[in-house]
This record gives sequence, structure tokens and C-alpha cells, in this order.
Amino acid sequence: MSFGDNFQQLSSHRALLHLQDAEIQLLESMKKCIDQRIKSDRQYASALTLVVSHAQKLDSGISNPLFQVWSNIVKETQNWIGLLRDHAEKLSFRTLERLNSLITEKKAARKFYLDEKLRLDAELRKVKDDVAKVKQDYEKNVTKHIQDRLKLEDLISKGVPPKKLEDARVRLTKSSLKLHRTHNNYVAALLEASEHERHYIKTVLPNLLNYQEEIEKLMVSQCKSILKDYADLTDFSTPEHIEIYKRIHDQASSLSPVTEYKVFVDQNKSDKLTSSNVEFDSQLLMGYNGTLKENQLALDTFTLEHIQQSCAKVTEQLQEYHQKVLSKESDLAVAQEQLNSVTSKEDINNYDIHKRTVLKLERELGELRCKKEVLKEVQDLYNKQLNRLGDRAPPAGVDLLENSSLPTSNYEGADAVAISDGARGQFKLNMVLHKLKKSGPVPPPPPEKDFIPNSSNGNDGEVKPPRTSLTNSSSHPPMGVMKSAALPACDSYQQVAVGQESRTLRQIGTNSGKKLDDEDWFHGVLPREEVQRLLVNDGDYLVRVSTNRKTGENQYVLSVMWKDHKHFIIQGQEGAWRFEAEQYPTIQELIFNQHNSGNHVTKKSGAILKNPVLRETWELKNDDILLGQKIGNGNFGDVFKGTYKPTNSEVAVKTCRETLSEDAKKKFLQEGRILKQYEHSNIVRFIGIAAHRHPVMIVMEYVPGGSLLNFLKKQGQHQSKKQLVKMCQGAAAGMAYLESHNCIHRDLAARNCLVGKKNIVKISDFGMSREEEEYTVSGGLKQIPIKWTAPEALNYGTYTSACDVWSFGVLMWEVFSFGQSPYPGLTNSQAREKVDDGYRMPCPDHMPEVIYRLTLKCWHQEARERPHFSEIDSELQRIHQSL
Ligand code: ADP
Ligand code: MG
Repeated sequence: MSFGDNFQQLSSHRALLHLQDAEIQLLESMKKCIDQRIKSDRQYASALTLVVSHAQKLDSGISNPLFQVWSNIVKETQNWIGLLRDHAEKLSFRTLERLNSLITEKKAARKFYLDEKLRLDAELRKVKDDVAKVKQDYEKNVTKHIQDRLKLEDLISKGVPPKKLEDARVRLTKSSLKLHRTHNNYVAALLEASEHERHYIKTVLPNLLNYQEEIEKLMVSQCKSILKDYADLTDFSTPEHIEIYKRIHDQASSLSPVTEYKVFVDQNKSDKLTSSNVEFDSQLLMGYNGTLKENQLALDTFTLEHIQQSCAKVTEQLQEYHQKVLSKESDLAVAQEQLNSVTSKEDINNYDIHKRTVLKLERELGELRCKKEVLKEVQDLYNKQLNRLGDRAPPAGVDLLENSSLPTSNYEGADAVAISDGARGQFKLNMVLHKLKKSGPVPPPPPEKDFIPNSSNGNDGEVKPPRTSLTNSSSHPPMGVMKSAALPACDSYQQVAVGQESRTLRQIGTNSGKKLDDEDWFHGVLPREEVQRLLVNDGDYLVRVSTNRKTGENQYVLSVMWKDHKHFIIQGQEGAWRFEAEQYPTIQELIFNQHNSGNHVTKKSGAILKNPVLRETWELKNDDILLGQKIGNGNFGDVFKGTYKPTNSEVAVKTCRETLSEDAKKKFLQEGRILKQYEHSNIVRFIGIAAHRHPVMIVMEYVPGGSLLNFLKKQGQHQSKKQLVKMCQGAAAGMAYLESHNCIHRDLAARNCLVGKKNIVKISDFGMSREEEEYTVSGGLKQIPIKWTAPEALNYGTYTSACDVWSFGVLMWEVFSFGQSPYPGLTNSQAREKVDDGYRMPCPDHMPEVIYRLTLKCWHQEARERPHFSEIDSELQRIHQSL
């Protein structure tokens, strides 16, 4: 098993070196991780310190158990932080240091092993080399000896003179001597080499390997101890940790709702409230000489009817409260039942919910019962008096002293006039009272300042004040809903000074008979999203109609800006409308009173109505639009020719089917919202959106030539090349305008361009447009006009104006193919595939070569290589002039 026996071959040696390298790397990585761990523990400790310091900021001076418990929990958290910090320090100064020295040792051990191995191998090699050298000498000497011997034999056989023979014998003796010595050297060297090798294999190399193994094992045990240290110092379940959490748990458990407030009550108790002095102030009747008595209802000719009515009213209220009490009692019984049915207290959530409900109902019931008792007392007061009177006629309310002279000084003021005007006797007095009653409440005084309407868009010729200036008028309601008696009847323009400037303002409707539709703050079915754009400052409000998702019924909604956008459904029906409080016969009156009162629309929302937001000039009334013949099929609904009555102008009207989803309706209006901002002779002109009711409509200028596609199909052949280039150039000018406004059309095609007078081309159909430099779609490709869309938009969903440039290339192709469908004979997916492979449609017969070159530039695979519309526009102008 040992290294010494198993690692002698080169492959094992290499494996051992590789292992040592890998282990060094592992230790290095371990070091980094522990370092990181130390950092994150320290960060955790710092974050917890923030928690603690946040908790310590609170000092209410109260020492109820709950406060103490929390303070103890915070202290324990501090202990926890202390432990964390301490352990992080130890990790850093002990564990990490040990790991560092282990890495150094490990590197040294590897170096030692490698150096030793190389040294031993070199020694062995040297011994073997020595043998080889001796062997070479040996070979040489043997050859020389044989040659000398053969020479001597030869000379002897030839019978040469003795002198020559003697020389030959001397040479042979010399070579024999050399040979014998070399022979011995060789035998000795061989022995030395084989012995050296034997020891190398048997002892020296195994010793080195085994030594190495032991060293490595020692280091593993060091590593083991380091890791145990790491485990200890990162363990959150040590007895110390567990102890801290045990104490936190104990703190939480020590809370007792029953005794929580015991000490607090003892320390802060006070005497019960005593009834305040709501007694009859006897001073009031000082010097009074009539029938009124302290603490007694006066039942006489003046008050009989009033008492009867009051009594009836109280009885009615009592009945109402009786019902309320009954219903609350039954709610309470149900809630109590539910509470009892929560068998396990473990189910703390459910228990809590039901317990809260029971407590709430008990409290409400208590209050209702009190109210009922109060009403009962008041009813008794009335009843007692009425019973006492029985069937008798009530006494006169006042003694008019008809038989005595009148002490005039006692009677001054308005009431006295009626009487002193010759009124005599009880009958006449009753008449006066009756008349007073009939004339009704005094009408409200007219507002001090005129109400200034607000509109966030003032481009209809009238200059409107900035929103901020309206705060002055915030206490005034919209006049359209005020009673006519209180207002000057006018619907004209007037000069109103706002700040330094004098501005013309139109005062909004004043006649009380105005329909809701006609109120300028009524925005019809304008979707919530659009409406929210109009509500900017707190108190801005308007009324609109929305469809109840569940019932599908229309409902009136008051939308208000109050911190955020709030939408209140106006409760009620024809003749009785309300929010939380009183009801009114019309929505106008409801809004008027709501605005005027300055009350919250609902208590919960706290919203207050300050500024009615008036319809913007682009918000048209559906009644002002007369639909004529259908001229197109839209994605969202039909397109009609129509008349806009106020200006008697021809318009095109895109309608939105009522049956579409709310989302689709919003998308429909997106087109209007975008178009609204643009004005360019090559872009169809926006007139407005009619959203008073369904169907919602986008109204645009009517472009008499219809769609460019139809025009090309019908009249394309009869147009000169110059004329067709002019049309392309018009489209490019429109698109350059859009590009400069960061608008990506995304559906540029002949079908979406219109042809106006003098064949002017206008870009239309902004249904897919986006106002962004780059727009990425995430959805599918369902609605995408594949054959007009650039590859990067199809493949990655990224749209830029360069994609519109690609579509423009297809548009030019359509123009010069007289409205043919692009990529004839290919399906969408075939066309897409071919284009991806680099295919481009060939030049149409009637397309000038220069235009085709421009078209190919528009179809450059790389979006950034395609020309911008401004360049296309100038290039087309140049080509147009050259033709
Ligand atoms: P959609 O978004 O549904 O595709 P478009 O805006 O493309 O709707 O309009 C559909 C068709 O209605 C057009 O192809 C064109 O024939 C006609 N149309 C649209 N707007 C006008 C307009 N302003 N003047 C004349 N015709 C128009
Ligand atoms: Mg279209």
C-alpha cells in the first residue's frame, strides 16, 4: 500500500507530482473561501449591529414586560454579534494562519521530493555511464590484443629477423597488460553498478517515497485539525449559540397578555371620568316671563307639531337601531361560534382572526346598545310630554298680552316685525311660522371668486392657467353643478388675471339643467390608464364610466388623485346618488356638494375634491361625430368616414369594438396617444379621441386617396417613375420625423400609408408603434407582419428605427411592384428562412437601379449599416430631381 512499493515507475512519479500540485491548489482555494467566509461573517455582524442600533433608538420610557422582553432579545442579539465577531477573529488569526503555514510546508515538501528524486536518479545514471565507458575501453583493448597476437604469429611463420620478432612480442605484452587491467576494471564497475541499482530499487527510492508519504500524511492531519477549527468557528449550534436562542425563546414565552399591563395600570391609573356639566343653565331663563321651564319640553301650539315629528323621527331611528342591534347580535353569535370551533390554539392565525372579529363586534354592539338607550331616553321625553297632553289642545306658545299694553322694548328684530305689523292672535302667528317654513332653506351665498376651470392641455386657442394657480380656487366647486340662482348665467370667455398674466378662460357651464355628458369634468369611458395620466395633483378629480367586470354593467366612477390614484364607484341609481354620506338626485349635485363641503369622499381614503380636471381638447364627444360609410377594416374595429360636427369637417374614424377586453381597448387608444403628439404633412393628422361612451373612437383627418396599397394596385401603373419616387420620398420624410421623435412604427407597409391630395403619402396606423429608442418584444410572433419585419426583430425581438428602415425597403418594393405582395410565391416562414440565408428580392421591373441600390441598403443584414431615414429622404430627393 505504501508509496515506496507502488510509486517507483515514472507514471506514478508524475501522478504523485500532480497530486501535490492539486492539493496545493485546493489549500489555496480553501484559504480564499475561509477568507471570504470571515468577511461575510463580519458583514453579518455589522448588519445585525444596525438592527440593534435601530432597536436601541426607541426609548419610550415605558418598562412594561413587552418592552423589557424586546430589550432583552436585542441584548441577546448583541451577544450573538459578539460571538460572531469573536469567531471571525479566531478564524482570521488562528485558522487562516495555520492554513497559510500548511501551504508553505506543502510547497516545500513537494520541492524537496522532486530535488531528491532528481539527485538519486542522476547518481544511478552516472554509475551506469561509468560501466559503459569501461566497456568501450575493454572492447578496444580486446581488439588490440587480438591484432598483436595475430601479427606475432604471422612474423614467426615468415621467419623474420629476431629483432622484429622481439618488437612484436613487446607490443603483445603491452596490449595484454592493458587488456587485463581493463578487464578487472570492467568486472569491478559492473559489480558497483548492479549493487548501486539494487540499493536504489530496494532501499534508497522507497525510503524517499515513504518519507514523502509520511510527510503528506502529517500534513493531512494538520489540515484535518484546521478544518475542525473552521467547523467549530462557523458553527451556529454551539452550546453558546443554543444558549442565546434558548434565552430569546424564554423571553418570548415569558410574555403574558394577562399581566402585561398590571404594573402600567397601577402606575398610571386615574379616577373615572365624571359627567361634564351638561345641565340646563338656569341663567338662560333669567328675566324670562313665559311658559318655558327648566329641563322640560315646552309642548304648546308652537311645538306640538315639531315634538310629534321629532318623536316620530326618534322612534324611527330607535327602530333602526333596534334592527342594527339584532343584526349585530346575530353576527356576534356566528363569530363566537366560529371562535369556539377553532379547536387547537396552535391555529393561532385563525384563532386571532375570529377573536378579533368577536372583540370588534362586541364593541360595536356595546356602542349600538348605548345609542339605542340614548334614543330611548329621548323618545321617552317626547312621549311623556305627549302623553301628558293626551287629547287636549296644546296651550298657546306665547301670551300676546292682547289685553295689556305691549312692552315694545322686549320685541326687536325681524320676528317682531311680523308681529308688530298688525299680526294679532295665535292664528296669525301660526301663519307667519308656516310661511317661514315654506320658503325653504336660505340659498347658499354665491362663491366669492369665480371658479377657474382646469385643463392640462390648452391648445384649442384658449390659454389655460397652470395647475398650481388653481389652488386658489380649490374651495370652489365646478359651477356646472351649482344652482343657477347662485350664479351669473354665462358660458362665454372672460379675462381672468393669473399671476402677472392676463389669460382668457372659458367659464364652464352654468345652467342647472346640464346633462352629465355635457359637464366638462365628465370623461366618459376613457380608460382608467388614460384617466390617471390626467390626474396629477392631490385633489384633481373627474368622473367617468367604467364597466363592472363581474356584472358587465356600466357604472359611474369618481377618479381622484389623493396620494395615488383612487377610484370610487358612485353608489346608487337614477335620482339617488351617493358616496358614503348623503345622497343627491343627480351626480352633478353629488359632486358639487362633495367638492363644496371639503369632506372626505370616504373616510378610509381621506380623499378631498379640489380641482375638477376638464376634458382636454382632444377628448371629443361621441355625439359630435357623425359616422358615414365604412372605409376599412381595423384590427380593433371598423374604420369609417365621418363628419366632425363642430367644424363640419370630413374625418376618418377608427372604432374600437365594445366586446374587446379592457387590455385590447387600452392598446387601441395607445395609437391615439402616440399620434396625438405628432404634426407633419407626411403623417396622418390626429383630431381627437371620443370616449364619452362606447364605441370609443380615434378621429383623424380623412385622407381621400385611401390606403397606398389600394392606390398602387389601382393606379400604380399609370404613375410616372418620378411620381412614384416622390411618394417614397414623402413616406421617408414622415418616417424621418418619427425617427427624430424616437418613435418606432413597427408596421410600416403600403397598407398602412394613406394617399392624400396631390398624391401626398401620409404614414398611418400607429397601432403597433412604440416611443422608445429600442423596444424588445417578449410575446409571440402572432401579430407580426413577417415579410415586412427586419431579421433582428424577428429573431431577437429588438426593434429600432433601423427595423422601420428595413420595412421601408419592402415598402419601396411594393411601390414599384404596384402593390404586389412581397416575396411572391413564398410563405411567411419560407421568406423568413431565405432572408436569414442572405436572399433579397430582385429589383422589380419598374424600379430604377438607383432606387434598388437604396433598397438593398435598407435590407442590410446589420441594422447599424442601414441608412437613417434622414439620409434616405435626402437620397430620394436627389434621385427625384435627377429623373
Ligand atoms: P388597422 O390598425 O386596423 O390596420 P388602419 O389604420 O390601417 O387600421 O386602417 C385600416 C384602413 O382604413 C386603411 O387601410 C385605410 O383604407 C382606411 N383608413 C384608415 N385611416 C384612414 C384615414 N385617415 N383616411 C382615409 N382612410 C383611412
Ligand atoms: Mg393597418
